[in-house]
Amino acid sequence: MKPVILIPEPIGAAGLQRLTAQCECHTPWRDGGVAEQAIDLLPAADAVIVRIFSMTAERMDSAPRLKVIAKHGVGLDNIDIAAATERGIPVLSTPGTNANAVAEHALGLLLALARQLGPAEAALRDGWVVERSRFEGIELAGRTLAIVGLGRIGKRLAFKAAMGLGMDVVAYDPYVDRTDYPGPARFCDSFEELLRAADVLSFHVPLTAETRNMVNADSLALLQPHCLLLNTARGAVVDEHALASALQARRLAGAALDVFQAEPLPLDHPLLTAPNILLTPHIAGQTDVAMQAAALRSAQGVLDILAGRQPPHVVNREVFDQ
Ligand code: NAD
Repeated sequence: MKPVILIPEPIGAAGLQRLTAQCECHTPWRDGGVAEQAIDLLPAADAVIVRIFSMTAERMDSAPRLKVIAKHGVGLDNIDIAAATERGIPVLSTPGTNANAVAEHALGLLLALARQLGPAEAALRDGWVVERSRFEGIELAGRTLAIVGLGRIGKRLAFKAAMGLGMDVVAYDPYVDRTDYPGPARFCDSFEELLRAADVLSFHVPLTAETRNMVNADSLALLQPHCLLLNTARGAVVDEHALASALQARRLAGAALDVFQAEPLPLDHPLLTAPNILLTPHIAGQTDVAMQAAALRSAQGVLDILAGRQPPHVVNREVFDQ
């Protein structure tokens, strides 16, 4: 009997093809279904490949055959790693597969926000009734980009912003070895120092107890009022109500967000009516190249586990010692 792989959300065709040759793949999205339908399919699953579909302890318990959980991408906050470890289930990740994609999206958000591309296009389509001079942009060369989290994405963004746009780049990441960093970013010793220096503030941290609500009323108060905020990390890094209030009160010049505490973003959310805000539906890591790379890497990881091999990028390697 072929192993059953449950794939609640769309993944790149190359990965799916690799799996289909050896496994039975359950993909509700290919029949127009929604990810949550996958819950009913968990009891038969030998493996699950998830993007943002949540794997809680309860869901693991409803999948008695489950031998591996593979994350398609990075950001493991939707998987209860401790619960998986307790149950002896390896959790796989695909670090780096979408780092360039996210760095490019962060730059895209920044350029669009600084030049008001969305409102400017809307004005043109409205018959050009708005005075052109209303769309005076913010020039980025020489301005300070402050990066929180100088990991795979943060490092790429630092390089692109410094070399491509001529920005000064500063970074806050207490876990990075400064002596082993050859890039253009200068390190700040504290988050507070970084906030005070920022013309643009961009988040590239995982969601942890420490990073949850890093952007709150107190941290927003330390930003200069002309600052632009970017979040392509995780929604819960930002207190969204505090951000909406700061934008309404013009204590912050603008924000661009790809991720939200609740996804999809509720249609009555205060961020939707905040001024100078640009919102995208969690697409930063989703490019042609990144999707194929993450799909191939996660598919290969699943096949390795099912064949008794240990793939690279196992998050809870201790399960192999149990
Ligand atoms: P990474 O692990 O390579 O880098 C994360 C960095 O954050 C590390 O250098 C770490 O030291 C640093 N960090 C951790 N806690 C910190 C703290 N309290 N303060 C400052 N720095 C801290 O991960 P990555 O590949 O660069 O991805 C970063 C995050 O981006 C992911 O965890 C994920 O949540 C998010 N992401 C979003 C999308 C999207 O589509 N929007 C796609 C991919 C990743």
